[in-house]
Amino acid sequence: MFKVGFGYDSHRFDEKRKLILGGIEITDKFGLAGHSDADVLLHALIDALLGSVGSGDIGSHFPDNKPEYKNISSLELLKDVVDKIEAKKYVINNCDLVVVSEIPKLEPFRKKIVNSISSNLGIKADRINFKATTNEKMGFVGRREGMTAYAVVSVLEERLWEFFNWLDREGSNYDVSQRYNDSRPNNN
Ligand SMILES: [Zn+2]
Repeated sequence: MFKVGFGYDSHRFDEKRKLILGGIEITDKFGLAGHSDADVLLHALIDALLGSVGSGDIGSHFPDNKPEYKNISSLELLKDVVDKIEAKKYVINNCDLVVVSEIPKLEPFRKKIVNSISSNLGIKADRINFKATTNEKMGFVGRREGMTAYAVVSVLEERLWEFFNWLDREGSNYDVSQRYNDSRPNNN
């Protein structure tokens, strides 16, 4: 089985906190309000991962009224979710991530964020795409009240993942359509 998941999150700015995105400290001049470290990017990613395997959402797994999650690094929550995906015998194939905010400029942090997520998901960096955009001064993001993040992930059942890896090893000469057409009746 091949599945996709989608996640969205938003947090209000809080000038007394540090800004953490993808597990990386971006600045200590301002951050985001929240029960945990308020890593809006990881929260969107976690929701997408949970969604892909039909496991609900971040709020049901890590309630924001529980003291054990107060100021917790969202990398710890992510680790827990990666374990859940593995327990369900799925492999994370790729993810596409977007942060929408007027400030700060995130392009200089793109590589760091991708590498952090790559090592925490245990997948190659080229399977992670990170984008940052503004909201063209419109709405609450445009008024610099907070930031939002979106994430899409795809996951593959472990045995399907192994099958694709095997196909890769066989090389481009291997015609998989031929193999499956062979077994059909009335095949010319
Ligand atoms: Zn959040």
